[in-house]
Amino acid sequence: MARPLFYVRKTVIEPCVSFPLPLPMINALEAAGRAGISGAVPVGAVIVRDGVIIATAANAAPGTHDPTAHAEIRAIREAAAALGADRLNECDLWVTLEPCAMCAGAIAHARIARLYYGADDPKGGAVIHGPRLFNQPTCHHRPEIYGGIGALEAGALLREFFEARR
Ligand SMILES: [Zn+2]
Repeated sequence: MARPLFYVRKTVIEPCVSFPLPLPMINALEAAGRAGISGAVPVGAVIVRDGVIIATAANAAPGTHDPTAHAEIRAIREAAAALGADRLNECDLWVTLEPCAMCAGAIAHARIARLYYGADDPKGGAVIHGPRLFNQPTCHHRPEIYGGIGALEAGALLREFFEARR
């Protein structure tokens, strides 16, 4: 039986009244689910400008030979190319997992306006864990940050992925 790519919040915490996840996070979760099927760690990212999705990416599949090909980096590159811009200061980045130090650095360099992320990552995250990159004096741009959006769905994808590999 096919498993759903992601779980709708109301099926997880019934009978709580649900509110739908924002579309960019739904798209990021779908990208993460597709990446998981390809064998990549299921993390997806979407970049939005003026309410329009301009980039969707996920962690690269194994064999890509690019250790930096995290969802956020790929989405930032795709968005910058689409806009023909060196900075993304009017863009929002949605990602299913708390960004790592590399991606948080890229988000700062890209001047992303707002960061929305799903699950916390106590092991590899660098926003509210580890180096807390945006709080460092050497970080020259701090986006507005909103965590926990779609955290249950994003966490379920990651858990299923790693459980299947045990
Ligand atoms: Zn990363």
